[in-house]
Amino acid sequence: MTAPLWQDQKEGRWFTRIPVTTMLNGAMLTLPLHVVTGKQAGPTLGIVTNVHGDEFLPTTAIRTMIRQLDTAKLKGRLAIISVANPLATAGFGRLTPEQHGRTDLHEVFPGNARGNTTQMIAAAITANVLDHVDAYVDFHSGGSGGRLQARVDYNSKASDDVKAKSLALARAFGMPFTHENDLTGTATHYMNLKRNIPGANPEMGGSYLGPENTALYTQQAIAGLHGMMAHLGMLDGKTKPPRQLDFNQQARHEIRPRNSGYLVSNYECADDLGLLIKKGSKLGEVIDLYSYEVLEEMTAPVDGYLFFSRYSGVVGAGTQAFALAEEAASRWLD
Ligand SMILES: [Zn+2]
Repeated sequence: MTAPLWQDQKEGRWFTRIPVTTMLNGAMLTLPLHVVTGKQAGPTLGIVTNVHGDEFLPTTAIRTMIRQLDTAKLKGRLAIISVANPLATAGFGRLTPEQHGRTDLHEVFPGNARGNTTQMIAAAITANVLDHVDAYVDFHSGGSGGRLQARVDYNSKASDDVKAKSLALARAFGMPFTHENDLTGTATHYMNLKRNIPGANPEMGGSYLGPENTALYTQQAIAGLHGMMAHLGMLDGKTKPPRQLDFNQQARHEIRPRNSGYLVSNYECADDLGLLIKKGSKLGEVIDLYSYEVLEEMTAPVDGYLFFSRYSGVVGAGTQAFALAEEAASRWLD
């Protein structure tokens, strides 16, 4: 393993670009690496955003966060890839627009320098960031589809020790939900299983949410990262996490439309996340843009807490529209 790119960095901020490969337009595909080094020694926290190209709320929140961060009070270092999949972002989409193989960067870690472009990107992130950090945050949000989220995932496949550390890191972010999820193929899975290092995947906020919700989630993203850094001893001010609902995959119920159309959502506000919805309650309906008929009504399959919702707008058949954490199968963490 080679030395990290930031090994000679003193207190302050540093930016570089990691070369990956040549694109068909002739330019070099590079990955942006931001490094913030504290005055005092401490752990290195790796943060990666825009693994999915249209999830840019965390990216802009972190831009604000690192500009505000006082490096004299920081112990250790942040290593941040601000746009993990530049090709997906350039295409205004979630996945890499390429011809062959798996194109979801979130499924191909640790990657392969001789694989397809998506795998090359993963390999570059692994070699330059993942293999040199002490804790890891894989930051996601709702994308261009108008999704609202408010949880932090941790990996069900991690060892008990790493899982407990990952849950503690996830809790420190301060969202109302933590979710034990199968993160196979993600960077966090690699960190957990190959490096025995804790990792957490916030799934919060969204893109194009309007000024009020964008401001709210940006503030929550910054506060959440501060909470994680305090938890890791990188900043002062460690606090007890709030009461949170923890749920696993068995408790997770996704409500997906059977028809494509225009979703009229009954839950479009940030405050709606966390509501206990009773079984049979209407969540929204799908309208046919052609005939103006209601194609289907979507209802809650169980009594559960709403942790994922969608703005009104066009939806494809089978896409996630709402998700509930079943009340009877979840647990409260105090
Ligand atoms: Zn994502």
